Amino acid sequence: MDSSFTGGHAVIEFNDLVLQEEDVLGEGGKGFQYAQVRLAPARLTHCMRWLGAAQRAHDVAADYASKRMAFGKVLGKHEGVGFMLADNEIEMRASRLSLQQACWVLDQGGRGTTESSMAKVQCSETSWNVVDRSLQILGGKGMTDDTPVARIFRDIRAFRIYDGPSEVHRWSLAGKVIKKIKQRNEPVV
Ligand SMILES: Cc1cc2nc3c(=O)[nH]c(=O)nc-3n(C[C@H](O)[C@H](O)[C@H](O)COP(=O)(O)OP(=O)(O)OC[C@H]3O[C@@H](n4cnc5c(N)ncnc54)[C@H](O)[C@@H]3O)c2cc1C
Repeated sequence: MDSSFTGGHAVIEFNDLVLQEEDVLGEGGKGFQYAQVRLAPARLTHCMRWLGAAQRAHDVAADYASKRMAFGKVLGKHEGVGFMLADNEIEMRASRLSLQQACWVLDQGGRGTTESSMAKVQCSETSWNVVDRSLQILGGKGMTDDTPVARIFRDIRAFRIYDGPSEVHRWSLAGKVIKKIKQRNEPVV
């Protein structure tokens, strides 16, 4: 499904699987709970990886925009392209800070569920936007395998789906917003 992982992902089906008591890791019925513990830090490492890939795509695009002449000047000096490069920098900076703050919460011993949800949505959507803009700046070359951008573009799309799709993180965050406002004892004016 995602060529950046060696061999991609497999789908495994178990039929009539019988486990002995000693084969069970942890307590029975708690598998989902255990899996959740791993999710916050794991999704943050994906954020790091994809922000790095987005930065690489941005660097390739910026290099092209600094050399390619169009309509009398280099591409990057045309606002339409220059502003895309600026937006890439702005969004990656904000995503990195959000990611670092989520990591800091985990380092303090917190669960970081809210922070990791926010960072995951922000990093996955930012990375996607950055790579899309970078490919656009490269024009036709962006669609070829002459640069790594086309491959990054193909692989990065899945990150808005795995480790919690954007919609599910937003749904979870929205639930917390409603819960918090309901718990407020003073009138909201
Ligand atoms: C490349 C790749 C790698 C993966 N790696 C792993 C892995 O290592 N381990 C693992 O366990 N899984 C992995 N997955 C599975 C991944 O976690 C699921 O695909 C993902 O959680 C979405 O579940 P689903 O495919 O069943 O979609 P569904 O749950 O059917 O969702 C379909 C769509 O509906 C939306 N949706 C769902 N609920 C809501 C809601 N409440 N409000 C609004 N919209 C909603 C979703 O956002 C999505 O757009 C991987 C998937 C991909 C593509």
